[in-house]
Amino acid sequence: MTDPMPELFARARAVIPGGVSSPVRAYGSVGGTPRFIASARGPYVTDVAGREYVDLVMSWGPGLLGHAHPEVVAAVQAAAARGLSFGAPTVAEVELAEAVRARVGAVEEVRFVSTGTEATMTAVRLARGATGRDLIVKFAGCYHGHVDALLAEAGSGLATFALPGSAGVPAASAATTIVVPYNDVAALEAVFAERGHEIAAVVTEAAPANMGVVPPAPGFNAALRRLTAEHGALLVLDEVLTGFRVGPAGWWGLEGVADGYTPDLLTFGKVLGGGMPLAALGGRADLLELLAPTGPVYQAGTLSGNPLATAAGLATLRLADTDVYARVDAAARVVADAAGAALEAQGVPHRVQRAGNLFSVMLGEAAARDGVASYAQAQRQDVFRYPPFFHAMLDAGVALPPSLYEAWFLSAAHDDAAIERILAALPGAARAAAA
Ligand code: PLP
Repeated sequence: MTDPMPELFARARAVIPGGVSSPVRAYGSVGGTPRFIASARGPYVTDVAGREYVDLVMSWGPGLLGHAHPEVVAAVQAAAARGLSFGAPTVAEVELAEAVRARVGAVEEVRFVSTGTEATMTAVRLARGATGRDLIVKFAGCYHGHVDALLAEAGSGLATFALPGSAGVPAASAATTIVVPYNDVAALEAVFAERGHEIAAVVTEAAPANMGVVPPAPGFNAALRRLTAEHGALLVLDEVLTGFRVGPAGWWGLEGVADGYTPDLLTFGKVLGGGMPLAALGGRADLLELLAPTGPVYQAGTLSGNPLATAAGLATLRLADTDVYARVDAAARVVADAAGAALEAQGVPHRVQRAGNLFSVMLGEAAARDGVASYAQAQRQDVFRYPPFFHAMLDAGVALPPSLYEAWFLSAAHDDAAIERILAALPGAARAAAA
């Protein structure tokens, strides 16, 4: 049978820019033609030609339980039968807000939106409204969605395509963002010493995973808390990717409680929506109450708190118990160790970096020797080794993220059979990367 993907991709490119609804899906940095997916179940995705792959993308994070978990699908179907969207309050959104608050002690109130981008955009506006200041500090390599103020030196697709930022961001808007190297407390101290009274917020990924996985150095997030508090700025912890994935209370639950820091605002998405378009801004009640209708900071959404999305989110959080996290952690450990061992056996210089159950593979001598603690280091990799590695895995029936700068996502549905397939594919891929 001829491969239908090239023709489908040509058709897609004729009507959709780049043929995709989000840039990294286009395989731009790995070459070849993206697979058009027809269905997904558990740890597998199946393309329109009927070929099945063990999936390590999991929709870029949401699939904590695996694809199409029967109880989540049933909850969405039941919700759909009751109506797709009301534009009015629902009990489910109250229950979901209560569930978020019950899990994440740093959250007193929650505002639901539809995407992580909206959540961080709202966090920026709220921080500016609350402090009366304009400047936002972000870290190079951290991605917070395609928000004007947060696109400078962002990771994710911008890292994949080696873009410093985006056209179309007004200079005046870019001038309100200060970008600091990640894990560099001294650089942040210098910025605060000079302009601390103008800074509305520091926005950071709780544990960055959009320049590959680059865990915060011990005490780094706590230092952000100390500096922001000293200067009257807010700390926004972006847990869109880590929230409800690395543990029941996200990265903050793993580290923040132990380190004794509490952010003012947190953003969530991905797992929270269980695969449906849903995200949230949470945090201190006095800040959240500044949002309309109680406060002067405007924010709204026709589909916010959508009943299908809240049903998926509620079902997902109800199912995501300690056993689920133990299974995801264990699967991630096995796959991360095996990827490292396979590359080691072929003499490919590399470093596997981890943050909880998130991990990614860094390629090259510099990464192997020094590790990767910043975006500058993340960009010093042997990127040419990734396309052959990626395609060897794909040919062996394992779908990796089509970019070196993304985390590999496991789920509680990655059982022994799925993991066996990954382990069987790794040696050949490592050989391809060594060539
Ligand atoms: N924040 C982080 C840490 C993310 O990883 C992402 C998406 O990858 C976003 C924000 C943006 O979320 P969305 O793609 O839902 O707009």
